[in-house]
Amino acid sequence: MTEHAVVIAGGGPTGLMLAGELGLAGVDVAIVERRASQDLPGSRADGLHARTIEVFDQRGIADRFLSQGQVAQVAGFSMIRLDISDFPTRHNYGLGLWQNHIERILAGWVGELAVPIHRGSEVMGIAEDDTGVDVGLSDGQPLRAEYLVGCDGGRSLVRKAAGIEFPGWDPTTSSLIAEVQVAEEPEMGIHRNAFGVHAFGKEEYEIRDGKVVFVDGGPVRVMVTEEHVGPPTEPTLRDLSAALVAVYGTDYGIHSPTWISRFTDTTRQAAAYREGRVLLAGDAAHAHSPVGGQGLNTGVQDAVNYLGWKLAQVVHRTAPESLLDTYHAERHPVAARVLRDTLAQTALMRVDDRMEVLRDTTMSELLSMEEPRKRFAGRMSGPVSLTTWARDTRCSDAACPISIGSPPPANYRFLPCCTAPARCCSTSMSPMV
Ligand SMILES: Cc1cc2nc3c(=O)[nH]c(=O)nc-3n(C[C@H](O)[C@H](O)[C@H](O)COP(=O)(O)OP(=O)(O)OC[C@H]3O[C@@H](n4cnc5c(N)ncnc54)[C@H](O)[C@@H]3O)c2cc1C
Repeated sequence: MTEHAVVIAGGGPTGLMLAGELGLAGVDVAIVERRASQDLPGSRADGLHARTIEVFDQRGIADRFLSQGQVAQVAGFSMIRLDISDFPTRHNYGLGLWQNHIERILAGWVGELAVPIHRGSEVMGIAEDDTGVDVGLSDGQPLRAEYLVGCDGGRSLVRKAAGIEFPGWDPTTSSLIAEVQVAEEPEMGIHRNAFGVHAFGKEEYEIRDGKVVFVDGGPVRVMVTEEHVGPPTEPTLRDLSAALVAVYGTDYGIHSPTWISRFTDTTRQAAAYREGRVLLAGDAAHAHSPVGGQGLNTGVQDAVNYLGWKLAQVVHRTAPESLLDTYHAERHPVAARVLRDTLAQTALMRVDDRMEVLRDTTMSELLSMEEPRKRFAGRMSGPVSLTTWARDTRCSDAACPISIGSPPPANYRFLPCCTAPARCCSTSMSPMV
C-alpha cells in the first residue's frame, strides 16, 4: 500500500497548482491523473487574469507564463472590455495563453518540486475512515492518504463519492467548439445572431495595438452557439456542420477536425467544500459558463489563497483540523459570486433587441464610469475573497512582516518580500473591490 499525506485526484490546472503549493510546503503529496500525458485535447481557457499572474509572481513563476503568452487587456463583463492599466499592481493586464500551455508550464514546475504524478490512472472509488482515505485506482494499485482533494473537474467522481450535493442551474444554451480545416475561410472574429454569439479564430495569433491578428492559413477554431441545447453526447463533424449552416447558411467546407467538443452554461456549486477528509477545489467545486474567463483562474486561486497553506499546516500539525472548515467559509462565497456574475453575463449576451440595448447602451455606459469600471474590473480580473487574507506557506514567522489574523498593510500588494519568492508573503485580498 502506497501512502501519502495528501492525494490529489486530477492533474488539471487546480490539481497542479495545489500540488505545487503543498510541495513547496514540504508536504508528502501525489497526483492521480486519468490522462496518460499532460496533452489537452481541445481548447479550454485562453488566458490568465491579473490576480492569477500575481499569484504566480508570488511563487516566482510568472515569467514562465508571461514569456509564452500575449499581454493584453482581457478583463470584461459580458464582452464589454474593462481596462485595468491604471490598477495598482505590477501586472495591470491579463495574458492570452491557451490552457494546454498553462498546464504544461505548471506541470514542469510541479516536476521540479518532485511531486509524483500517477498518470493514466483514474480514481474509481474512495473509502474514508477516522485516520485516512483509501483511494481505489483503475490500475488496481492500493493508495491511501490522510486527505484526498478532488480536483477532478466538473463531473468529479470524488465529489459524488463523498456524497456532496452539486445544486445549481441546468443549461439554457450550448455551443460547439472545434478546430477544423476549411475549404473557404470564414470572417475571423466574433459574430452574433438570434441564437447567440459565435466566433472564428486560430490557435496562433498576435496582439497588435490591442487587436488580435491571426496567422494566415492553417486550421480554424470555431465556436458556434446551437439553436437548442445540444445532447450530453460527444458532438460530431456532422453536428458542427449543421450548426454552422443554421447560423451562416454554409459550413465553409469544414473537414479534418483536430477536436470537437461542446460546452454549456450549466451553473452549479458544491454544497460543501469539505466532507471529513475529502476536500474539493476548482471545477469539482464550481462549474459555470466560460464567459468572462473565470474558471481556471478561480481554481488556481482556490489552491493558493486558502487550501494549500491550510492543508499544509494541518498535515504538519501546526494548526488544528478545524482550520480546514474555514476553506469552505472563505472560498465558497467567492465562487458563488463568480457563478452569479456568469449567470448575469450569460443573460446579457442573449440576443434580443431589449437585451442589446441593456448591454450595449445601459451596461456599456455604466461600465465606462470610473467607479463601476474599477469595481467590475477588479472582480473580473480577480476574483478574490474580500474578507480574509492568507500567509504564504513558506513564510516563517521571522520572515513574514505580517501575522495571521491582523489586517493587511495598506501596501500589501507591494510587500518587498514578494519579489523574493523564497521568503515571500502573500495576501488574498483584492484592493480593487
Ligand atoms: C470553452 C471553454 C473556455 C474556457 N475559457 C476559460 C478562460 O478563458 N479562463 C478561465 O479561467 N477558464 C476558462 N474555462 C474553464 C477552465 O477550462 C476550467 O475552469 C479549468 O480547466 C478547471 O481546472 P480544474 O483543474 O479544476 O479541472 P479540469 O481542467 O477539468 O481538470 C480535471 C483533471 O482531472 C482529471 N480527472 C477527472 N476525473 C478523474 C479521476 N476520476 N481520476 C483521475 N483524474 C481525473 C482530468 O483528466 C483532468 O485532467 C473555459 C472552459 C471551456 C470549456
